[in-house]
Amino acid sequence: MTTTLTDSYGRQIRDLRVSLTDRCNFRCFYCLPHGEPPMSPKSQTLSFEEIARACAVFVALGVEKIRLTGGEPMLRRDLPVLVGKLAALKARGLLDLALTTNGYFLADQAQTLKHAGLDRVTVSLDSLRRETFDRMTGVDALARVLDGIAAAKRARLTPIKINAVVVRGYNEEEVADFAAFAREHDVAMRFIEFMPLDSGHDWSRESVVSGREIRERIEERFPLVPAQVRRGSETSSRWRFSDGAAGEVGIIAPVTEAFCGACSRVRLTADGQIRTCLFSTVEHSLRDVLRSGASDDEVADYVRSVVLKKEPRHYINDPSFRQPARTMSFIGG
Ligand code: SAM
Ligand code: SF4
Ligand code: SF4
Repeated sequence: MTTTLTDSYGRQIRDLRVSLTDRCNFRCFYCLPHGEPPMSPKSQTLSFEEIARACAVFVALGVEKIRLTGGEPMLRRDLPVLVGKLAALKARGLLDLALTTNGYFLADQAQTLKHAGLDRVTVSLDSLRRETFDRMTGVDALARVLDGIAAAKRARLTPIKINAVVVRGYNEEEVADFAAFAREHDVAMRFIEFMPLDSGHDWSRESVVSGREIRERIEERFPLVPAQVRRGSETSSRWRFSDGAAGEVGIIAPVTEAFCGACSRVRLTADGQIRTCLFSTVEHSLRDVLRSGASDDEVADYVRSVVLKKEPRHYINDPSFRQPARTMSFIGG
């Protein structure tokens, strides 16, 4: 097996995002406002054994980072068991095992996940104000998520990242407050531009708060200095506080400052489809290959052939842009 996974534009794939479920207990208006559509039969969902086997093949092909996501990945029962299986891949080249979660169940499970081998968590937190949090997520759970973040810190699931999708008319006034939160709690804030991947189809260009505006809003209160010399394949531009305070901010601006040229990511959906781009309109059934009796070498050949079909970029800013049929809660952010 060759140990690199390169697409037809010369981009190396180092980062795999694995969605564990399409289900979610939140109703974030920018993702899944009306709840889940009918679920696909359970038999189509990859088992932990299948996920671990697929991940082992990806790691053998040079993937260094695995992020578990969803839907809400913590709804998947016995998650620490899967984390344990994936953590074993660190002996074979995996460098980083992370989880993205809405934080609702984190206070209870942070320590167990750490023991199982999880390196770190990213927690979504769209507002520090109870009412806005409820308005954005459909759940009155701000205090609970903050408890989850505190528990993750105690369990040393660090460095902790906090994701906030910034949407005009909802939380753009809070951007500098979030920067203050990053300083106080020594976490890395990630501000994300609203992307047209919401199942409610409410996205509009006017609702996007640009990365540039986000930075200006932070710098009105806290001057920033670059935290990275080269951005590489990172999705965010990263900044530190010029007064040397703890914490960091990152700005993920896929709409106004696309970073597709350096993309190192592919995604695996809960039902075993490889998506080579967030905005893919086609999927590739790794599940069928895994269940066909194929050897690991054959699975690897299939993965390599799929990666060669990776899209060069997204087309959000083209007049002909159409939202993909599967939305963020299926794809895994
Ligand atoms: N449920 C988990 C959570 O919310 O962290 C993991 C899955 S969620 C789909 C992963 C990330 O995607 C979250 O940080 C969320 O804020 C982000 N996201 C969802 N819909 C988005 C959209 N339309 N534009 C930008 N980011 C979005
Ligand atoms: Fe659920 Fe995460 Fe989507 Fe919110 S962003 S609805 S928590 S999957
Ligand atoms: Fe990668 Fe597609 Fe996202 Fe561009 S839009 S960074 S190609 S996943």
